[in-house]
Amino acid sequence: MAPTILVTGGAGYIGSHACKALAMAGYRPVAFDNLSSGHRWAVRWGPLEVGCLEDAERLDAVIATYRPVAVMHFAAFSAAGESVVDPAKYYENNVAGLLSLLAAMRRAGLDRLVFSSTAAVYGSPLSTPIDEDHPQQPINPYGATKQAAERVLADFASAYDIRSVALRYFNAAGADRDGEIGEAHDPETHLIPIVLEAAAGLRPEVAIFGDRYETPDGTCIRDYIHVADLADAHVRALRWLADHPGAHAFNLGNGEGFSVREVIDAARRVTGRPIAVRVEDARPGDPAVLVADARCASDVLGWRPDSAELDTQIADAWRWLTGRYRTLNTRPNSTSSRHRQPAPSSVVVAR
Ligand code: UDP
Repeated sequence: MAPTILVTGGAGYIGSHACKALAMAGYRPVAFDNLSSGHRWAVRWGPLEVGCLEDAERLDAVIATYRPVAVMHFAAFSAAGESVVDPAKYYENNVAGLLSLLAAMRRAGLDRLVFSSTAAVYGSPLSTPIDEDHPQQPINPYGATKQAAERVLADFASAYDIRSVALRYFNAAGADRDGEIGEAHDPETHLIPIVLEAAAGLRPEVAIFGDRYETPDGTCIRDYIHVADLADAHVRALRWLADHPGAHAFNLGNGEGFSVREVIDAARRVTGRPIAVRVEDARPGDPAVLVADARCASDVLGWRPDSAELDTQIADAWRWLTGRYRTLNTRPNSTSSRHRQPAPSSVVVAR
């Protein structure tokens, strides 16, 4: 029997790609997800158990049923802008949710965790690219909750021998290379899917959040990393944990930054479609530049991103988006107006 990994948030964007990578690597992923933002259709490589992290009995029952050997913890809220206006939501899920999960792990004698962290723990960088020793001064509650969670993991490693790897993602992008799963948030807040929806004519334009940052074109610079490369890093971290007690953290990025305007230009190039833009006020909690120094993940985990090129990431996301809307519109029962969208190949594109 393949070793089982409990994947909280396994129906979400990065969690579902991790489930696929786990299955391809010979594990059985069990997705534990409350479906608040995840999707049943994204769980394809193992069972789905619907439940909430704060439900201790439910967690205990799922762990007793499947007897996982380790946990990958993705279930969390991740919109930096939203966290500024509703921090309670973020602390409850991202910190209290982790504590509940760790309590269940301790009851079951489970001692391995791969944790979904973020570049937002660093705040506005003092130097760039950012390595793991860069000071941590989060500038939004989302980053603060992940920093607090990492501190919990360090203390739990010392006191209870729960070993962990926190993976600090820069900006997840792209979709499964086979087109089986991809990003689908409702509402969508992330730049690349929004830009592609505009390319597809599913929204009239893209709002650029601020063009007066101290960057060459005035818009924010981010380091985009393919979601399949992120998933691969999780499998590597899991294996590495077998021989490495303690609490560890690695950055995951490509080491190259692209501005919002460069992303939009890349999407125009990849899709061949015009994309209208409008400049809006800067979004609260957004640092100007976030670019990773991920040499540690490369040296220690042997991780090498396969899809470092922005155009490849956008092309994979575009194939996923166009395929998804085609499927929604051709399903026999998909007459509900909520889901009916013009297929990107047939729409008139906003100019
Ligand atoms: N952004 C934007 N318009 C949008 C969505 C995002 O200008 O509609 C910007 C955002 O301010 C940030 C970058 O694009 O500088 C990436 O944002 P995203 O939400 O994708 O990821 P984050 O950096 O918040 O993790």
